[in-house]
Amino acid sequence: MKIELHLHLDGSIRPKTISELLNIELEEAIKASTLQTKAENLKTYLDKFAIPLKVMQTKENLKRVAKELAEDLKKDDVIYAEIRFAPHKHLAGSLTLDEVVNSVLAGLREVPLKTNLILCMMRDDTFNNNLEIIKLAKKYLHKGVVALDIAGDESAYPILKYKELLAIATKENIPFTIHAGEADDAISVKNAIMLGAQRIGHGVRAIDNKEVLNLIKEKNITLEVCPKSNLDTNIYEKITNHPIKKLYDMHINVTINTDNRTVSNTTLEKTYQELAKAFNFTDEDFIKMNKIAIQSAFISKKEKQELLDLLIK
Ligand SMILES: [Zn+2]
Repeated sequence: MKIELHLHLDGSIRPKTISELLNIELEEAIKASTLQTKAENLKTYLDKFAIPLKVMQTKENLKRVAKELAEDLKKDDVIYAEIRFAPHKHLAGSLTLDEVVNSVLAGLREVPLKTNLILCMMRDDTFNNNLEIIKLAKKYLHKGVVALDIAGDESAYPILKYKELLAIATKENIPFTIHAGEADDAISVKNAIMLGAQRIGHGVRAIDNKEVLNLIKEKNITLEVCPKSNLDTNIYEKITNHPIKKLYDMHINVTINTDNRTVSNTTLEKTYQELAKAFNFTDEDFIKMNKIAIQSAFISKKEKQELLDLLIK
């Protein structure tokens, strides 16, 4: 049984669905949505989201994509997932932000799997648009939405730019995770923590800075590590170069995630197998990382206990 805390709805759409909705060949849909070779950088990776976003602009399509992702998660033996997406990316049709969120929630609710949403503010978006996402998260908090995120091109938009927005989120008692220490270095992780992030999306580059590693431990921050995605964006050339084992051995809170199932052509099961092969992780290690994921989930103590009971059953 597995927990997934970091995966993007648009990056996990089934290619078959793209093919059907755009009336194009499956091969073409796969090529457009899945990385064929490593991306040159994070930007090339992010370009793979253009086609998914093209089809995710109506209520029906959003509902379908969300439902299918929940089905895929269930098949991957996931018992709880926090799925994230940026509502502003789905306004190219005539939908409102409320309709976008409600359509995704309606799709997820069709599948008997415990899920919640994390709403993403985007680094390249305006202050006001991101402020709208905070208000939207507040409105749906504990009604299907559990937290906020900041996503997008980290190296072009340093996290300190979002200090004011994150202060508002903190004041509103909305927890947040931030993509950091992926395309940018350990200082980006430090700044994200100082601004109040409880979890860090990726965070792997903290490995280069002892002070930041100590800060992660001291503040009990959890890293949402996405190994396959890090290979695809060329942060690490091969899996054996990935710092996940070192971080785990240092007793940093490490969780395993896919980031984008379609873009990276992966599942948690595949990722666990690759990690076990590369680092000799055992079943006990994976259970431990799933316990960390449960403890770090943006849910109540009672819900955490229910998941822990399921996990060790
Ligand atoms: Zn991500």
